[in-house]
Amino acid sequence: MNLASYADLAVDLVNTRRDQEDDLRDLEGLRALLSQRPHLGGRIAHRELDAMRALREQLRAIIVAAARGDEDDAVERLNTLLIHHPVHPQLARHNGQGWHLHFNESGSIPDRYAARTAMGLAAEIAAEGVGRFGLCGAEGCGRVFLDTTANRSRRYCCGRCAGRAGVTAACSPIAPRVTVPARESGQ
Ligand SMILES: [Zn+2]
Repeated sequence: MNLASYADLAVDLVNTRRDQEDDLRDLEGLRALLSQRPHLGGRIAHRELDAMRALREQLRAIIVAAARGDEDDAVERLNTLLIHHPVHPQLARHNGQGWHLHFNESGSIPDRYAARTAMGLAAEIAAEGVGRFGLCGAEGCGRVFLDTTANRSRRYCCGRCAGRAGVTAACSPIAPRVTVPARESGQ
């Protein structure tokens, strides 16, 4: 179990959609996302795709609220997600590792993904507040990120966006879904 990586899982899913692009427009896109996470393998059909897209919107709303500094909204949305996707921890031991916790080994891919990401975001907010969530400040991007810099100075999702800040181009030719500059108020 690595809760920090589960917060990253949420960011990865949210960033599969930008205004003009959607990596989860078909099953192939979902397979590509999950190929990075072999422990989340399982049956994939249109039902799972639809559920993952719905989960993505819930996670985006949480992260965008957090990035805006709206703690109450982020937490309320996240608590709702936690109720709908309860965690079922199990102790496991394999590959020479000691006993460690696994979450939700059974259930559909969307259910397991939801439980993990909800726990990851909850652990992040419990430990750090909402201050590390960010929305890329580059025009035409719209991706979210988790700022792990020591002084929380990150404003862009990637080096390419940072390098082109002030220029119209960004990481990809997409329009922003939300245009609130990250960290504008320095909160
Ligand atoms: Zn960006």
